[in-house]
Amino acid sequence: MTTKLWANSGDSHFIEPDDLWSKELPKSLVDLVPRSVKDEDGLWETVYVDGQSFRRRLPKMTGGAKEFRDLAQRAPGFKDFSKRIADQDEEGVWAELVFPSLGMWAASFRTRELLKETARITNDFSVSEIMSLSPRLLPTAQISTLDVQDAIDEMQRCAGLGFKSVFFTISPHPMQQDWQHDYWEPLWAAMEEAKMVIAFHIGTEPIDMAAGEVIGITYRGPGGAVMNYTETTFSGQRAVMKMVASGALDRHPDLKVMVSEGGATWAPFLADRMEEGYRQHYMTVRPKLNRSPREIIYSQVYASFQHDPTAVSACRDMGFNNVMWGSDYPHLEGTYGHTQETLHGLFDGVDAATSDRIRFGAFEELFPSAPKAPADIRN
Ligand code: MN
Repeated sequence: MTTKLWANSGDSHFIEPDDLWSKELPKSLVDLVPRSVKDEDGLWETVYVDGQSFRRRLPKMTGGAKEFRDLAQRAPGFKDFSKRIADQDEEGVWAELVFPSLGMWAASFRTRELLKETARITNDFSVSEIMSLSPRLLPTAQISTLDVQDAIDEMQRCAGLGFKSVFFTISPHPMQQDWQHDYWEPLWAAMEEAKMVIAFHIGTEPIDMAAGEVIGITYRGPGGAVMNYTETTFSGQRAVMKMVASGALDRHPDLKVMVSEGGATWAPFLADRMEEGYRQHYMTVRPKLNRSPREIIYSQVYASFQHDPTAVSACRDMGFNNVMWGSDYPHLEGTYGHTQETLHGLFDGVDAATSDRIRFGAFEELFPSAPKAPADIRN
């Protein structure tokens, strides 16, 4: 019999109940919350976000993809939170960082009050319905990405409620300044003070409603599906690039950043490129940093992956220790139903220290208050 391999997950989700926001928001805001309406033929859907809408073709579910989606939606804890821990016990997942699903549209909200209120409602829901289930579940807080003071107020309230991290979209709404600008500096200072981790999740760019696509990176034609999927990965790298080059992480050495679902091997690569740019273009570099880009990335940036075989090498062979595994439960890209096969494929034959670091250590370093896996399952 094969030994069950356990791991913490730096990338999991919950699915919001359909009426989470609508039942609590004032009438003026209810019509603005994100929702999707599928055509009868199931081929297209219309997505409504904050008074805007766009149409998109749904992925054709054939072969492996259909199998994975059916399986993920058969997870008993897919929507019934009371069954979630049993799902994780079955799969071999110990502690999880839990992101939203619908809330990932946050960068497409343009109404300040709507974003502020939906964040507050989601956070209260996460406390009462997710945190309460088990200390193994660490929900991410949601905050405004339109107004820095709204963001600080909600982040501090959430720190008081027991959250350890804040979910960040890869960039804010295009009407707001991007993460590298000084506008956000008070938030970085407040998060460092509150010991809250910045948790970027890939695939959270704002949508260009008129075009019905993610701004700047939507391909059509040959290769489109794989190209669009792959493109979502680069934005996570760009978010880290902005936080490093702008000096935000240099000014706040205790501020930690993670990128979920974006792989891990990019981190040493990005460090190489930024290091070269910083050194060779030194005369024009602003701001100057107190530590090199590599030093900042290797000490303050963490990355989670689910299937990537090379992610293990990033930790073992490239000295980038902050590699974390993630299940992406219960999403289509995740490992539900094949978690054990995935973990054995990744870690069988890998030295114990590397395996433990990726499955538990990096997560525990980032979230020291999370419950440690008991010795008998930490194999
Ligand atoms: Mn995910």
